Amino acid sequence: MVTRREWLQTMTAAVAMRPTLDGVGRDDQPAPASQITSPGLVDLQVNGYAGVDFNDPNTTQDQVSAATAAMRATGVTCFLATVISAPLDRFSACAKTLARSTEPALAGLHMEGPYISPEDGARGAHRREDVSSPTLDDFKRRQEAAGGRIRLVTVAPEVPGALPLVEQLVKDGVRVAIGHTAASPQQVRDAVAAGATMSTHLGNGCAQMLPRHPNFLWEQLAADELLAGLIVDGHHLPPATVKAMVRAKTPARIILVTDATTAAGRPPGDYMLGSVSVHLDETGRVAVPGQPNLAGSALSLDRAIGNTVRFTGLPLADVLPMATTTPARYLGVSPRGRVHASWDAAASRFTVLRVDD
Ligand SMILES: [Zn+2]
Repeated sequence: MVTRREWLQTMTAAVAMRPTLDGVGRDDQPAPASQITSPGLVDLQVNGYAGVDFNDPNTTQDQVSAATAAMRATGVTCFLATVISAPLDRFSACAKTLARSTEPALAGLHMEGPYISPEDGARGAHRREDVSSPTLDDFKRRQEAAGGRIRLVTVAPEVPGALPLVEQLVKDGVRVAIGHTAASPQQVRDAVAAGATMSTHLGNGCAQMLPRHPNFLWEQLAADELLAGLIVDGHHLPPATVKAMVRAKTPARIILVTDATTAAGRPPGDYMLGSVSVHLDETGRVAVPGQPNLAGSALSLDRAIGNTVRFTGLPLADVLPMATTTPARYLGVSPRGRVHASWDAAASRFTVLRVDD
């Protein structure tokens, strides 16, 4: 088990271990439309992609491969397939298909829920009836269905039974993220003490209204032990919020995730996220019709990189690790392959040209 002190040392060392990026200076932007090479992109939160839904029990191996290929065209060579809150049988059916995949890019599963807050707002687009309390036995069954490939679990620390589960997961080498929560600041600190090391899509999956301070957002922003996953599509977080969060956490503790759904890489229209109907509009916003909640995204990680440069004013060299080496280190893997891309500094556009193994 990694101690809190060792974890902090690892993450502090990560600041000095940024990858060398051909064509990208450490402190200055490359010339407009320059060509760069970077490690393969790593996405820790993918619900589906390009018409394929990882939360549909009927999804096939071929469809998982098609989604993987479509993501690779955006530079993603490593990802966690995300299965959201669902009853055990439905989760198990999805997990079994994903676990049997031999796609090298599929690094495992991110189990987002069902051990989350049942409250409106906090649970986001997860259905209330799919939310349940954690028990070690329930998790063991889910991990068994997933062939031991669940690598990351998002929990709400205030849910009864969550903290003992967090301790056990961390002992077993499974990473734990805080998310879809209505926790008190103390409950956030308790989760960190139990071994939580990440915030899932910080600033989303929470109530519309919060006490200005203290609240669980400030507590997570201030916790150096927690890396923060951010969905930088311009819909989930306003640009100023992204900039302020990145500065608060420091770039070394930011992980860009897409939270992509079946609607990603597809035209506007109606799609399914598990058993939830969602609509993708012309602006790229994915939401449950008639509700204020966003429901995953239509974002790709290459665009998240450009958005983050634009929103924060940071150089590309500081943003690329958020989508490559930082999530890889968090998972305990090496980034796979090399991405050859063009970088248009004027438009903050990162365009993948080719991906090598
Ligand atoms: Zn979520």
